[in-house]
Amino acid sequence: MKTQLLDVAIIGGGPAGLNAALVLGRARKHVAVIDEGRPRNAVTRKTHGFVTRDGISPGEFRWIAKEEIGSYPSVSFVPDTAVSIAGTDGHFHIATAQGATFASKKLLFAVGMKDRPLDIPGLAEVYGKSAFVCPYCDGWELRDEPLVVINKGAELMHFAPLISGWTNRFTICTNGPDELTDAEREELRRHRVPVFESPIRHIDSNDGIVRQVVLEDGTAIPCRGIFFKPDLVPGSDLPRAIGCQFSETGTVVVDAFGKTNVPGIYSAGDAASRLHQAIAAASMGAFAAAAINNELNMEAWQRNG
Ligand SMILES: Cc1cc2nc3c(=O)[nH]c(=O)nc-3n(C[C@H](O)[C@H](O)[C@H](O)COP(=O)(O)OP(=O)(O)OC[C@H]3O[C@@H](n4cnc5c(N)ncnc54)[C@H](O)[C@@H]3O)c2cc1C
Repeated sequence: MKTQLLDVAIIGGGPAGLNAALVLGRARKHVAVIDEGRPRNAVTRKTHGFVTRDGISPGEFRWIAKEEIGSYPSVSFVPDTAVSIAGTDGHFHIATAQGATFASKKLLFAVGMKDRPLDIPGLAEVYGKSAFVCPYCDGWELRDEPLVVINKGAELMHFAPLISGWTNRFTICTNGPDELTDAEREELRRHRVPVFESPIRHIDSNDGIVRQVVLEDGTAIPCRGIFFKPDLVPGSDLPRAIGCQFSETGTVVVDAFGKTNVPGIYSAGDAASRLHQAIAAASMGAFAAAAINNELNMEAWQRNG
């Protein structure tokens, strides 16, 4: 197979990679979006909070994006997995699982994040249907409903006040030791929030809608929805393999324009941010695309001057 020459290889075709492709296509750059099509939000039926697209399904979002980007002939879509990346700024080489190869001047990792397997029996059945991770995304639909929050420790003390903006009918399951201080326990008591430490035995549901959370000590907590803390890992090992620096939370370290510590390599979206929202990912993709385009134009300007 012949190696394709690109200005920019974008690895990942979610909101971040797609918006970057749109900006770069309009800037007349040769771009391939290599995407294996396994986004974290594939479990959801609707995406909320993206103005003009509130409530759209993740699949339809991608379909519309590809239609729009299709107007820019220098952008191509490659439904494949990038499996190796080598080289340096101006001369990156990308190989895919199906044997395609690309030579690219710049790289954008828009690979998202992945959930580790969910270890609570019954959680996979309700994830994305009545169990969620982000109240900004799915809190409105569950407003004033009885909820179970599965979380513990310092993060719980951030989440409890947050979720109270959507409902005050929530129960906390720490699924083991609560990891709270006495002062934190007292704070939750003052707010009349029940806290259960017994491990979760299973989650009862019907067609994706949770009915109750059942604990090892026999307690059954009826509820209409769940918010839990996901356990995330990077969407791909490739950024680490080529030397990108990572934060403690597993995101690629970038500057305000998505530039990593490796010259010529950028990252955008969930892969490089703690704010996991589609519009934020798309915005990061646009910023990174503008910075990459600027770098490419400056290099060409200096070469030709
Ligand atoms: C249950 C759930 C509900 C959500 N609801 C909302 C909501 O209502 N509103 C909202 O704004 N946000 C929501 N989000 C968050 C939102 O989905 C993400 O913030 C957004 O999708 C991030 O976009 P991204 O482009 O960074 O990554 P993603 O959308 O995850 O896309 C990354 C892509 O890169 C691909 N990829 C990874 N590695 C490779 C490789 N080596 N080669 C090729 N392709 C690769 C993946 O397969 C994937 O297609 C939700 C998330 C979850 C989990």
